[in-house]
Amino acid sequence: MTAVAEYTVAPRVREFLSATRRLYIGGEFVDAASGRVFATHDPATGDKLVDVAHGGAEDIDRAVRAARSAFDHGPWPTMKAAERERMIWRVGDLLTERAEEFGQLEALDNGKSAAIAAAVDTAWSADIFRYYAGWATKIEGSTVNVSMPFVPGGEFHAYTLREPVGVCGLIVPWNFPLLMAAFKLAPALAAGNTVILKPAEQTPLTALLLAEVFEEAGFPPGVVNVVTGFGDAGAALSAHDGVDKIAFTGSTEVGKKVVDAAKGNLKKVSLELGGKSPNIVFADADFDAAVAGSLDAWLFNHGQCCVAGTRLFVERPIFEQFTEAMADAASKVKIGPGMDPATQLGPLVSQEQLDRVTGFLREGLTDGARALTGGQRWGDKGFFVEPTVLVDVRPEFSVVREEIFGPVVSAMPFDAEDGVEVAANDSIYGLAAGIWTRDLSKAHRTARRLKAGSVWVNQYNGFDTAMPFGGFKQSGWGRELGASAIDLYTQTKAVNIAL
Ligand code: NAP
Ligand code: MG
Repeated sequence: MTAVAEYTVAPRVREFLSATRRLYIGGEFVDAASGRVFATHDPATGDKLVDVAHGGAEDIDRAVRAARSAFDHGPWPTMKAAERERMIWRVGDLLTERAEEFGQLEALDNGKSAAIAAAVDTAWSADIFRYYAGWATKIEGSTVNVSMPFVPGGEFHAYTLREPVGVCGLIVPWNFPLLMAAFKLAPALAAGNTVILKPAEQTPLTALLLAEVFEEAGFPPGVVNVVTGFGDAGAALSAHDGVDKIAFTGSTEVGKKVVDAAKGNLKKVSLELGGKSPNIVFADADFDAAVAGSLDAWLFNHGQCCVAGTRLFVERPIFEQFTEAMADAASKVKIGPGMDPATQLGPLVSQEQLDRVTGFLREGLTDGARALTGGQRWGDKGFFVEPTVLVDVRPEFSVVREEIFGPVVSAMPFDAEDGVEVAANDSIYGLAAGIWTRDLSKAHRTARRLKAGSVWVNQYNGFDTAMPFGGFKQSGWGRELGASAIDLYTQTKAVNIAL
């Protein structure tokens, strides 16, 4: 609690951090079967925040049985869609009412700015719950005009039903703990599924606070379950025969493990994985807008974004001027704890991530990269890294190939519109891409050539709840958000009746 004392923390957050937080299974807050707990920490100081129940395979099994029962016998999938709609909408309203509380808890657990966690992470999560609340009453099948060529004569009535998949395991990472949970929970629930949420070990707290919101909104027991724990809990969930679908966001490496684990009962799998996204700046771009937007592309959330635009391609005539302007802006960013309203760049989430990111920096500098600004750890307390702009990089350097997940960008010059896509597409990933130009035709041509699930023109991080989001190549399977997410959480039944 030492970490918390330094900041002005809402009384409700202080209270939440004053007792061991427990799992949420079958509508009750319970200890882990083993009785074990683990500590979660404030990344700005490294100090312990609170103990959290250490869920394992036995707890996952309990949660799956609760979700199974709520799906197979409970009122959730058979409840009137309009009732589900009202309950899910209520979650959105409660998140809006409690945005400060959620923002502060997220900031303390993850390190990000409390103001941003309230205004972006929590507000957008509320928006997502409201958007999918609306979908509950709009999921529909179709009537099909069948010909039945091998059945001469006869009359038929054929139609499709869209039904929930069943029990869904939702595994989320630490970079946007609440928001990534909302991406999955809202469409899964709107479609009538029941769920088990497994948050990341580094950031378990807002998922447990969210469980309180589901209680308050009147969700029947077992519809939403939250099991905090480590990778073994995620592995048990992915392998469990009582689970019909896994939705996973995290590293590509663990995503492959989820695919392996899902083989047993061939459960459905959707994956949002890593990225190493290209951000392309043409010489005719609005220079100042491109500098500001491209800075945000790799610095937002301290670079801990799957979509981070960390391979910056700048057309040669403006390369030096552009990268220097970016380095100048990056060096002026205010670094500090997320609870400080003046902070623009907070700490990385953990010691492990600090070691990982500084390891990549050392390797890149040894390979021959040059840091225009940054290049190392910031301070000696907490897990901060200086915003770093690297030039003189080559395509084979690990800083260009690997997802670093920290405030680091590698900038490379290019000579022509034709061909820039070859360099941009030279990655195992294909999550997102940015394009900056005043030439509309050039923007459209380049957008078509890029192998990426999202392409943003004259902006970066251009997300919207109604737009599908997901990856090409090893960045994932399936599309979250928008109408696409409803596809992920429903299955189609074809009914054909001989009249
Ligand atoms: P991760 O290991 O992929 O973790 C994501 C989630 O999967 C966490 O809830 C994790 O639990 C769980 N998990 C771990 N092992 C599992 C298994 N065998 N089966 C099922 N679930 C399992 O990601 P990370 O270790 O936190 O981060 C490592 C790197 O992944 C980062 O440096 C970054 O490059 C990338 N990453 C990408 C994204 C993204 O949005 N694309 C997000 C986060 C991280 P525990 O937390 O308990 O291990
Ligand atoms: Mg933490």
